[in-house]
Amino acid sequence: MSLHGDYDPQNIFAQIIRGQAPCYKLYEDEDVLAFLDVFPQSYGHTLVIPKRVAARNILDVDSDSLAKVMTVVQRLARVLVEELEPAGVQVAQFNGAPAGQTVFHLHMHIVPRYAGEKLELHASARAEASLLEQLQARLLRRINA
Ligand code: 5GP
Repeated sequence: MSLHGDYDPQNIFAQIIRGQAPCYKLYEDEDVLAFLDVFPQSYGHTLVIPKRVAARNILDVDSDSLAKVMTVVQRLARVLVEELEPAGVQVAQFNGAPAGQTVFHLHMHIVPRYAGEKLELHASARAEASLLEQLQARLLRRINA
């Protein structure tokens, strides 16, 4: 069952944490990593993950690690709202495939929402690398200001 089971250390986010797969990084400290979603539901869709715990979902994670993730989620949600000026911002997290989870390393979605755009759980298209690079540079300027 996707809600339960063993943590797979080969999942894509574990590879990103180990530096074995690339990402458009926005923020990193000892415990938390944040990067752009490459199949974004909207412009600015960001993922925030714990680095040091092998947690598949919110049921597995210890509360200290979760609190560190949420502190970064709030900080980056503020950055995204200031920089991109969406009409709303969604913070979401899925547990188990029937709930929409596709990558089994705990992650929080921060999805800026713009007026008139359809609400979807997943996007069908991978974003252009040039768009992600440009967005990353824009957000890093704001994060590091
Ligand atoms: P879930 O559906 O599990 O809540 O979210 C997984 C998210 O990871 C999806 O929004 C999906 O677009 C994103 N994703 C899948 N593979 C990659 C990848 O290789 N790099 C990045 N940055 N995001 C990914």
